[in-house]
Amino acid sequence: MARFSLGSSDETGVRAAERHVRGQDGRERVGGNREAGRGFVGRVSKGAAHGGRHASNNRERTARTRRAQDLVCQFIEHLAELAIIAVDPRAAILSWNQGAERDTGFTAAEMIGEPMTRLYTPQDLANNAPARDLEQAMSVGHFETAAWRMRKDGSQYWARVVVTPLYEQDHALAGFGVVVQDLTTQRDMERQQYEHALQLSARDAARAEAERRANDLSDLVQQISAQATELDRRRIEADSANRTKSDFLAVMSHELLTPLNAIGGYASLLAMGLRGPLTPEQRGDVDRIRGSQLHLIGLINDLLNLSRIEAGHVPFSVDDVVVSDVVREVTDTMAPQVLARHLVEERVECTDGVVARADRAKVEQILLNLLSNAVKYTPPGGHLTWTCSAVGDRVRLTIRDTGRGIPADRLADIFEPFVQVGRGFARPDEGAGLGLAISRDLARAMGGDLTVESAPSVGSAFTLDLPRAR
Ligand code: ADP
Repeated sequence: MARFSLGSSDETGVRAAERHVRGQDGRERVGGNREAGRGFVGRVSKGAAHGGRHASNNRERTARTRRAQDLVCQFIEHLAELAIIAVDPRAAILSWNQGAERDTGFTAAEMIGEPMTRLYTPQDLANNAPARDLEQAMSVGHFETAAWRMRKDGSQYWARVVVTPLYEQDHALAGFGVVVQDLTTQRDMERQQYEHALQLSARDAARAEAERRANDLSDLVQQISAQATELDRRRIEADSANRTKSDFLAVMSHELLTPLNAIGGYASLLAMGLRGPLTPEQRGDVDRIRGSQLHLIGLINDLLNLSRIEAGHVPFSVDDVVVSDVVREVTDTMAPQVLARHLVEERVECTDGVVARADRAKVEQILLNLLSNAVKYTPPGGHLTWTCSAVGDRVRLTIRDTGRGIPADRLADIFEPFVQVGRGFARPDEGAGLGLAISRDLARAMGGDLTVESAPSVGSAFTLDLPRAR
């Protein structure tokens, strides 16, 4: 393969530059013998005429050939789409068309005779790309590549470059035709199209994601609505079961109360000696019958109350209630039991200014239950302390004892009906575990609540929370 040493200093290149002339329009034109440029394109320099072959003897044929060459040259020169350059075998530029001027900024006058290497980037030059391109074109008859090329202002542009070796009729190498297509616009367009496609696919992906989420959401809504329907069904079932339970309790209670009252009545008759005098043992038995009868009546009344409250059948007469008044009333009522247990009772911060909006009788019932529990579950010598306060729109009343306390894992249970901590169910004289359930239901029905804090062997604090009167 032929090796090239590139440069403009060769004779043909220099002469080519010298043969340029300026036309009337101020533009440079190639002067001299057109035939000399045979085989080249664009503004052809006479210097390209390697070999200087003589024209055919047939003048007419020669003239036609020249006209054809003229036309081709003009056509190429004005083919503004492409930069078309001819170089001699040593790569000195022989012709430079308008497309080349436009793409590179170099005029023909500047470039004719110059080495083609001026169009290569420093990096390509360092890699000996110019010589390699021409060698490849020679070896396969055609070389095509996409590469960066230099502009006059030092910027670079991306181009498709086609190099074709050109030969004289005697097959001697005449030079190379180089076609350079500026791909910057095409590249930009492709990039824009690519980015547009990216945006579209991102939008499609976003839309697909939104649709997926919408579907998920709609599934979720369906699930929730199915759950709501199921909950509704269960609520209706529970309401109906509750009504049945209340009806059952009402009927049963009535059925139980009648004979219990009879038992109580006859026991009283016996106790009063109306059926004759009783021995001390008999009197003790009758008292126990009477005590059990009273306990059962109390239990039945509690059950009735509970079911009535839960069914919303208990009327509330709401009014302003001075909390310290109710506390005083309840402590007065319970004073004998407190005294009997040797308990110390005190009231702290419970001023008359603490006024709740509630049903007074129900508040009394709750406090009575709390106080009797405190008395019941606090050993002799213990302390009972009442505190109350009004904060914001709430009134809080706490009774604290130093009794046996309640284990943490049972705290939530004690408000459930029939739950008793630390003792069996069969102690008729000590209630049935309904007091707190009733009390909390009553508190909640008045817009309040009943809560507890407790620690075993330390004591318990029950707090009644109620709406505050304005
Ligand atoms: P009862 O007192 O009739 O058993 P309650 O509903 O009033 O029913 O109380 C439920 C349970 O809560 C009681 O059995 C007891 O274990 C516990 N309890 C309530 N008050 C106290 C208290 N002040 N100290 C310790 N335990 C208490």
